[in-house]
Amino acid sequence: MMRSMTSFVMRGSLAALVALALTAVAPSAHAWGANGHRIVADLASRQLTPQTRAVVERLLHAEGAQSMSDIASWADELRDNPETRDLGKATGPLHYINFADDTCTYVPPRDCADGRCVVGGLEKYVAILGDARASDTDRAQALNFVVHFVGDAHQPLHGGYRDDKGGNDYQVQMDGKGSNLHRVWDSGMINTRNLKWQQYAQNLADDGPVTLPPPIAPLDNPYAQWAEESCRITRDGGVYPKGHVIDDAYVAAELPIADRRLREAGKRLADLLNRTLKN
Ligand SMILES: [Zn+2]
Repeated sequence: MMRSMTSFVMRGSLAALVALALTAVAPSAHAWGANGHRIVADLASRQLTPQTRAVVERLLHAEGAQSMSDIASWADELRDNPETRDLGKATGPLHYINFADDTCTYVPPRDCADGRCVVGGLEKYVAILGDARASDTDRAQALNFVVHFVGDAHQPLHGGYRDDKGGNDYQVQMDGKGSNLHRVWDSGMINTRNLKWQQYAQNLADDGPVTLPPPIAPLDNPYAQWAEESCRITRDGGVYPKGHVIDDAYVAAELPIADRRLREAGKRLADLLNRTLKN
């Protein structure tokens, strides 16, 4: 490895080396970083009814997990494992949605053909999770997806309308380093607090119950509403920085929005599980 790295450095440009290094350490570009997903799961787990908690724990134990935070980013790691790579590829489009334009209006056949968007992903796996006739193995897998996709639907850049792969193609500077807007929202801003995820979740929980946004008429699909909210935030919320620079003022303005989305996701995940797991 060292030999090939050395020859690479000698042959390649610095830019190529930087690109290689970023590839080596970059988390999957699928959503909130692992910590964001853990925080959502932790907030939700605090709001489960005893009955729901018992079912969740049974399903988690069936796959050797202890908490929803343990499995919250499993769906982002599928492609890293040869045994689950095909499932990871097949479910890749279920982590996000691309809206057609800045009206941020969900039109199922156009925006979610064959259910291949985060709205369809939630519809599919919530149905399996709530099916008492399904095996615990299938329901545990569905729980993993549901915990993850509720988080994804609330990451604003998982529901954008711009042609930039949810900000992955939108380069920015943060602390003098190159990054992209998606990564800033996945983890860059969250990391500025320098907190372990457990403490981060505790602080958000200490803020008390979150007031959920009112329903968007005429939508009767909660998952579509969450995605539309994300789209509107990317449009109206100052998410795209002036001059492609993420500075202190940007973080001061946008991190509260990210925190609110984490809290909303936690509350909605809990409500969804409490509705779905009555058996
Ligand atoms: Zn994801």
